[in-house]
Order: sequence, then C-alpha cells, then structure tokens
Amino acid sequence: MVTVKSRILPGSARSAVIETLLELGPTSRSSLADLTKLSRAALTEISHDLIELGLLYEIPVVNNRQRKGRPSVLLAVNAEHGYFVGVNIACSPALMVLADLHGNVISQHEIVETRSPQSLATSIQSGIQRMLASKSFSRDQVLGIGLALSGFVDHVHGICIHSGALNWADVPIRELVIEATGIPTCIGNDANAVATGEKLFGQAREAKNFCLITLGTTIGCAHYVGGRLYAGSSGGAGEIGHITMDPDGQMCPCGKRGCLDTIAGAGAILSAARAHGLQAETVAAVEALATNGDQRAIAILRKAGQALGLAAASSIQINNPELLLFADTQDFCSGIYFTTIVRQTIENNILPRFLSSTRIHFHPVKQSFLACGAAAIAAHNFLIEQAASLIG
Ligand SMILES: [Zn+2]
Repeated sequence: MVTVKSRILPGSARSAVIETLLELGPTSRSSLADLTKLSRAALTEISHDLIELGLLYEIPVVNNRQRKGRPSVLLAVNAEHGYFVGVNIACSPALMVLADLHGNVISQHEIVETRSPQSLATSIQSGIQRMLASKSFSRDQVLGIGLALSGFVDHVHGICIHSGALNWADVPIRELVIEATGIPTCIGNDANAVATGEKLFGQAREAKNFCLITLGTTIGCAHYVGGRLYAGSSGGAGEIGHITMDPDGQMCPCGKRGCLDTIAGAGAILSAARAHGLQAETVAAVEALATNGDQRAIAILRKAGQALGLAAASSIQINNPELLLFADTQDFCSGIYFTTIVRQTIENNILPRFLSSTRIHFHPVKQSFLACGAAAIAAHNFLIEQAASLIG
C-alpha cells in the first residue's frame, strides 16, 4: 500500500513515537498513530520493537464499565531504562545532577573547579562516582552526559567555540569528558538546556512554538519551532544577547558595541549600579532601590528593561511564538518594576495582532533546572539515536 504514511523512514518513525511520548506522557496506540501520522499497523510494529528494547512499556488502564471492548493500554517511555547526568557549567560552582528520563533528580553534586577544561572533565568523572555511591543502580545504567554552558557552542562537533564566562576558545570539551568518563556526551548552551527542560517537564509542555529568554549575568535565548528545538545551521540560533541595541554603546566581549548584554545582563546592570555609586550586589537589590524611588536605580532598570523588551518584541515578530518565557536565574523578577518595563516595551513595540496571541510569562529558574535540562538533552539524543538505529 503506497500512502504518505508509508514513506516515512522507519528510524524517523520510531524517533517520532519516542518524541511524542516524551512530550505528552503515556498515550494510547491509536492516539500515537494519529499524532505521528503512522498507520495503526506500523505503530503496532514500532511499539513492539521499542518495548523489546526496553525503551517503552505498557500501562494497562481499567476501562469504563459502560464501554465494551478490549482493555485500553497506554504506551510510555520507560524512565528506568537508564539514567543521565546533566552538568550546568553556566553557574558557579558548577552543578551536576543525576536524573531519569523524565527529569526526576536522583542525586546532585557541586563542582568547584571548572576553569580548566581538563580539570572539569576529571571532576565530572569523580562527581558521577559520588552521586552513584549510595544508589542501587550501576554506572552501566548511566547512558549519557549533557553539558550546558554559557557561550557559543558547536553541538555537532562537541566544541565550545567561545565562552567569555569560562574564558574558553575552541575547547573540544565533549571529547575531554568522554575520555575521562567513557560515557557518551553532548553539549549545548545554557538557554537550549533551559528550553529543553521547559518543553519536557516545565512550563512549555503544551507549546509547539515558544521562545525562551534566560535572564542571567548575560541574556540567552532559545526557540522551539514546531515542537523541536531550533539550533540553527551551526548551533548559534538565539544569540539575542548580541543584538546591537546601541551602535555607539559600550564594548561587548564579543567585539561589537552596544550589544543587549552590555545593557540588560545582570553583569551590565550591576556594573552600571557601581558606576552610579549604588550599594547593590544583586539585581534584586537594584530593584529594591528603584521601588524605593532611587532615580539612579530607576534609570538603570528602565534602560535595561527597554532594551530587553525591544529585543524580545523583535523575536516575537520574527517567530510568532505562542509563548514567550523569561527564565530568571538571577532575581530579575524579585519586584515588579523591571518586569513591568519589559512587558510594556514589548506591548508597545509589537503589531497589535500579536498582543492577544502571545503569552508572556516571567518565572524564576533554579540552577539545578539547567542541569536537568542538560540531562534531558542527553536523554533525548540517546533515545532518538537508539530508536533510529534499530535495523528495519
Ligand atoms: Zn556582543
């Protein structure tokens, strides 16, 4: 039978089944067939293969007594099939977690030494041993490691091309970690890790198209398009922090002037606060000063909020996301002044038709969430690769 459905490659079809189950949770075969556009026969065959492999399992569901027919069965990803390590190198100290396929944290560990790539790789190896020490499963069940770092990342080749925060350039960090641990490893930037976490077990589970902006020392961004993370042709999509907001502005570590990071990142806000003689060690402290009427703090946050709002408005108009999530890692949202400026600037600078179709949400994110997101990227890659590599 020649149909559109039968032209889907087997590996892609299996990956689609896994991705749909990761996204939606336990789902019936008939719903999966509809969602993946596979025939019922193909779906039955694929689910059989994936159950044999231990990637999926069946959950019997008691039928409504008034309904006749066979008992309903849901398919689900087997969370205990394996465990994944996520490492957030974007914070200090770096944080690593051991998580299952659903993002449940089994254990976590802090890494103090991250400056040298080699010492980081060695610390990850010893950290895994520590996290496994009190657990009932073995190292063989740790199937992958995901690293999230702040900077420009070539995720295909596993290279950190540049990270100002880590002072790294062209570091083959994936290979170093694989050499130290013997475990398959992938890398991504911190915004991609948060976005993956939001999609799989956070606030964007229902969203197909969303934009995530991370508020930290610098500003990061990631896009989900059609239910998938859009990384760009070389992994650099979402470099919102280096949008030029002021061509005559301050020098940015990237070599340009007036990037968004130099105005709206926590580093820039605190630097401006110091330059104006304010006693503030956190963005929350600047917010508190603004709330109390300090005109210098108000001016700093207004400038930062307007720059961020303009960049976010452009992102909305370029991608038309249903949801814009601000993931706050540094207490930007401790009060209402900064968020109000950002929200007002966005609303004043997008076309009216986007106003009602774009939900805008600010929320705090813990550093462990980034580590979980990194683990989720590793888990996702592993599952998709294993599903796609089945012969047939
Ligand atoms: Zn820049």
